[in-house]
Amino acid sequence: MEPIEAGRRLTSEVVDRYARPGPRYTSYPPIPFWDPEVGEEDYRAALARAGEAKDEPLAIYVHLPFCAARCAYCGCNATVTNREDVVDVYLDRVVREIEMVEGLVGRGRAISQLHLGGGTPNFLTNAQMARLWERLDEAFDLSAANERSLEIDPRIATPEQVTFYRGLGFDRISLGVQDVDPRVQEAIGRVQPESLTRRIYAAAREAGFGSVNLDLVYGLPFQTPEVFNRTLDVMVELRPDRLACFSYAHLPHLRPNQKQVDASGLPETPWEKMKLFRLAVERLTEAGWTWVGMDHFALDEDEMARALRERRLHRNFMGYVERPTPHLVAFGCSGIGEVAGLQAQTEVKLGRYQKSLDAGSFPIVRGHRLTDDDRRRRKAIYHLLCNLELPARLLDASVGENGEHLPALDESREGLDRCVREGLLEVAGEGYRVTGLGRWFLRNVCMELDAYLPRTAEPRVDGPSPRRFSMTV
Ligand code: SF4
Repeated sequence: MEPIEAGRRLTSEVVDRYARPGPRYTSYPPIPFWDPEVGEEDYRAALARAGEAKDEPLAIYVHLPFCAARCAYCGCNATVTNREDVVDVYLDRVVREIEMVEGLVGRGRAISQLHLGGGTPNFLTNAQMARLWERLDEAFDLSAANERSLEIDPRIATPEQVTFYRGLGFDRISLGVQDVDPRVQEAIGRVQPESLTRRIYAAAREAGFGSVNLDLVYGLPFQTPEVFNRTLDVMVELRPDRLACFSYAHLPHLRPNQKQVDASGLPETPWEKMKLFRLAVERLTEAGWTWVGMDHFALDEDEMARALRERRLHRNFMGYVERPTPHLVAFGCSGIGEVAGLQAQTEVKLGRYQKSLDAGSFPIVRGHRLTDDDRRRRKAIYHLLCNLELPARLLDASVGENGEHLPALDESREGLDRCVREGLLEVAGEGYRVTGLGRWFLRNVCMELDAYLPRTAEPRVDGPSPRRFSMTV
């Protein structure tokens, strides 16, 4: 491959060069490198260690996998049902899991952040949601959280339900939109009239949510720049506090439901797809949002933009967060968390998840114990993803938290220096700063710091990709 010189602009040639699958780095190492031998005993021991560190707050994620129908483009762990009792049975197990965690970390631990994701959290009836909230509130100190958020699907939401969530104590809400164009919606199997989105958005504002987020997806079938521009018009008009603009990864061999997507209208080249994201960045930043990290946008007064300005933005399994989270405890099937230096994922299959809890075991299916080297590489990757720069001290020889001697990251330096030659980074003091061009290929730059990915002489990165917990290696 011909070398690319620094100073090049975003062109189809450049996009082609970096259009490679890569991790989104909501964890490091990425989940495919976790060990299936890590199991419930390790997880129990980690929770007990977190129990000893009583002053450290916990972040909580609860996965609620139920949906009324499967959207064709979906890349999440979702279970389609129309039965309320199936949710009750699941909640019994989530409550059991909460009790087990509470028994190990102690009752009333302060929570820094609570997030309910899915699936479709608002598939739960109000009574079911109240039950879950009350049980969490008994076990932990939710009042200490700086954010209590949930994702909702506007298609099955009502204004009354949204008001109910606010009354319960949620203060941030996220609505799935993807694209407002009917033809695009038809092609991805998710028909959501614009009037409905507007109605639920208005209800969230009316209910007094402190922060409202809308999720968009780019790279969908029939989503030309003209079509997507109309969606962006609607966003500019509604003015949500935050927007996420995820890349659609069409992987029907891994996600059979995506065989239902009308692939005839997908962008034909990485450049065609990138033009959609570039349009989003241009329109949204012109209209007053700050581009945060890879794929988020926040208004100045939103906590995420403030955290970015004050250089306290962090990253974890939930994406970009405003505070560091030493422990993220995940509940529900396919939950991913990190407790006392142990990263762990629970069983994806609903039946197996429930059976394991019935037997009194945490359904952990894989995990990873962070080494000192993992911690310093992760710190460097997250620093790049949040602050768009990399101080030299994060690459120098050091002594890790556990006393391990860590040699300088010379091999990564070579890759980063190549990024400088190609115009993705510039030298800043002894360290590096991301350039305007490199901003579009942040993941590729981060991959130079990844000790788990195979090393090649070729660029190893890719543009932004979809949902929070997905990875497209
Ligand atoms: S996209 Fe959302 S609503 Fe649709 S199936 Fe997936 S999780 Fe459910």
